[in-house]
Amino acid sequence: MKYKFLVSMAVIAFCAAGAFSQVDRWLPNDVNRPIPTVVTPGAEPGAAPSDAIILFNGKDMSAWQAGDGSDSKWKLVDGAMEVVPRTGNIHTKQAFGDCQLHVEWKEPSPAVGTDQNRGNSGIMLMSSFEIQVLDMDGNKTYADGGAGGIYGQYPPLVTASRKSGEWQTYDIMFRRPRFDSDRHLLTPARLTVLLNGVLVQDATTPTGPTAFHDRPPYLAGPDKYPLTLQEHNGAVQYRNIWIRELPDPVTTLHYSADVPMHIEAKDLAAYAGTYDLDGNSKMIVEVSGDGLMTRRQSAAGRGGQGRGGQPPAGASASTSVAMPTPLLVPINEDSFVAEWSGNSSRVTFTRDSKHQINGMVMQSGDSFNYAKRVDDASEPANASPAPQ
Ligand code: MG
Repeated sequence: MKYKFLVSMAVIAFCAAGAFSQVDRWLPNDVNRPIPTVVTPGAEPGAAPSDAIILFNGKDMSAWQAGDGSDSKWKLVDGAMEVVPRTGNIHTKQAFGDCQLHVEWKEPSPAVGTDQNRGNSGIMLMSSFEIQVLDMDGNKTYADGGAGGIYGQYPPLVTASRKSGEWQTYDIMFRRPRFDSDRHLLTPARLTVLLNGVLVQDATTPTGPTAFHDRPPYLAGPDKYPLTLQEHNGAVQYRNIWIRELPDPVTTLHYSADVPMHIEAKDLAAYAGTYDLDGNSKMIVEVSGDGLMTRRQSAAGRGGQGRGGQPPAGASASTSVAMPTPLLVPINEDSFVAEWSGNSSRVTFTRDSKHQINGMVMQSGDSFNYAKRVDDASEPANASPAPQ
């Protein structure tokens, strides 16, 4: 009975917090949740997985075309597709939006040219967002023009290039920009890039399409657009190019609703008080900064604070390890969550018919505990009976 009541309280609290939207309905460990599709990985590192679209397998360039729709003018050399200077960019015939892309590329050896004229090429998602290809072997250039950079915007986190003449890999995770029905930008593009297995772009959001000496804005367009490989005079070679189309981004689970709100300190005081946990110990709630702190106090008077504080929501009371007491920050007028990201601890205050706080449900993962308010700050004589 008590368990059912507590679960009900928690569900009510969640619903009140707007936690369950239509696409945010999965409970932790929900057996009804669809099982992910099976994809067979490539036989060796870099090989295409079973659901990939092969854009270049070393033998034919039929997935690509020139800007005018004619056949690509680049040439096949030893299982690679080599840029022919002054023949223009090439584009996939198929359009792509959200994707995972694997590309291998090699700079000419011996190297030719300096700075931006040394093996310059590029991989342009939706023909608009260029991941720079450049020979960095002993070559100096400006920061946002190096290999691994989002051209003209974001330098790579590190320079992780191989030497001229060595095959290099890009693994690119791309999310397209999204626009509302009025063509206003909702979310910018997002790029995560590994260069030779090293993270060089970490969920980076371009300012708009990449350009030379310019930062043009986002403009609403199609959801899918061809992938482009750039011709920039360098005789760069490409091989083993495959792409996986990605579904819409996974909807963030309910913590997306957990946007901290501000409650004035004088109003936070309404939550402060003493709550009886199990007849033998109490939870003391106090105002701290923009949130609340809790500590457990046993009947013998050995407060949790003296032991370094307690996690607030259902965590073990018997731990002797000193732990930082997390600040509970409000996400609505009844629910508070631990301030650090990823912590599932939550306290939801309950109210009586006069809207006075008369208890709190403490949740940690799937564990719930209820504590009835017992101090005299909320009319304890008239408080609703505690669940039995
Ligand atoms: Mg380039």
